[in-house]
Amino acid sequence: MDPWSQQSGLETEFEHQQQPETKEEQPTDVGTGNQQSRRKKQVRRRRNNNRASGEEAAPHLDDVHALDKDTVVTELHSDAGSSDEENDDDWRNRFRAKCKPPCQWFVYASVERELGIADLVVKSMNNEHTNCSHVWKNKNISAKWLANKYMERFRCNVEMPPRLLRQIVDEDFKAEISKWVAYNARAIAKKEIQGNAEQQYTDIWRYCAEIKRTHPNTTMEVMFTPFRQPGCNPKFMRLYCYLGPLKQGFLDGCRPIIGVDGCHIKAEYRGQLLTAIGVDPNNGWWPIAWAVVEREATEQWKWFFELLKNDLQIENGYSYTFVSDQQKGLDRALSEVLPNSEHRYCVQHLYNNFKKKHRGLALKTKLWNIAASTTEGLFKKATADLEKFDKEAYEWVKKAPHPSHWCKTFFSEHTRCDMLVNNLCESFNGHILEARQQSIIKMLESIRIFLMERIQRRTTAMEKFELSIGPLITICC
Ligand SMILES: [Zn+2]
Repeated sequence: MDPWSQQSGLETEFEHQQQPETKEEQPTDVGTGNQQSRRKKQVRRRRNNNRASGEEAAPHLDDVHALDKDTVVTELHSDAGSSDEENDDDWRNRFRAKCKPPCQWFVYASVERELGIADLVVKSMNNEHTNCSHVWKNKNISAKWLANKYMERFRCNVEMPPRLLRQIVDEDFKAEISKWVAYNARAIAKKEIQGNAEQQYTDIWRYCAEIKRTHPNTTMEVMFTPFRQPGCNPKFMRLYCYLGPLKQGFLDGCRPIIGVDGCHIKAEYRGQLLTAIGVDPNNGWWPIAWAVVEREATEQWKWFFELLKNDLQIENGYSYTFVSDQQKGLDRALSEVLPNSEHRYCVQHLYNNFKKKHRGLALKTKLWNIAASTTEGLFKKATADLEKFDKEAYEWVKKAPHPSHWCKTFFSEHTRCDMLVNNLCESFNGHILEARQQSIIKMLESIRIFLMERIQRRTTAMEKFELSIGPLITICC
């Protein structure tokens, strides 16, 4: 729908006489006054219908060769109302625009159909404005029209800010749109591009089947509410995804240390994304598995760890180390599913809690000294140092989780990793911020593509290096 080709009360004056929808509405003859007034009513009714339904009006001004678009667009003005139905058999193909009185600007045009092409041709025109000024507001630029008009732009950037769209419309059409119209236009385009979120949940089985077909050895586990009983509608609950190539990569070259964390899904249907991230030989993060769950609690973490345990073929939990923030649900689930594994708490997270009551650089350094102490002697020295400096802070540390969870001294040696923080997961979660705003299949696809490209970029960088010991690859992400 082209806003310039429709009439809306005081706003525009480019009057478009729409093709009737039914045969009965077409006037067969134009002669008597009765017939004329009947036709006027029909035209008015049709125009109102078009406005209400937002249907496509016939030829767009964009398609007009004979009419200079800039002239029309920049110089359209308000028209206090015009109903001009001349006696003409071909009235359906005629258009008229005129400026607000007393200005005498007008244009008459008609559609000429030749060789199957419809051209809008100007028949007569007075291109001089007098005593009038530009009108910036145009109600006919609707969100739906904008969404269609700028669909390609939205495809490039579905998160295009409303203010940018307003700027583009201002440049293209010399018209102002409200931020709500811009926002709605984006919402319509987004829905069109990203597909219906609900439909994606019904397609999830097919998506999983396709991923399993294209990525051998992949685990895709979907959980629905029970629906075997008659009258029960299945509801999506959880989805677990561990791609085959990632599995192989982890078993081939990663250390047995896994960071786990949960983050929010900010799409139309909310939930949590649980992630497990490994450390590659390059000291970067290696994606392991992720799961969409309804919320982050013991039950969900337990489900996640059980699937992960099967996938990583963990028979003896002693050899694995998990790093996480302090979360009760996660803690419990881990101790139930993998009771023998080592569990580290992120020191940054611990410090964030610590600094709520005990602020200051000196205290910060002392706490990190305790965490980083590599022998028991150093550990005792660091704690004694803190006790001497601030008794209350020392008491807080004593009540905190046991140092075996967050001090290097107590970490097992076989992991070959002295990582104190869980920044692997945070880094991964930070990279998939946009994906987390998309509906489920789109989100899973965005994550998969992002990881595929990242691994490929790093492989290409590594292949250029000829020596047996490579450099530290620090390609962005
Ligand atoms: Zn004018």
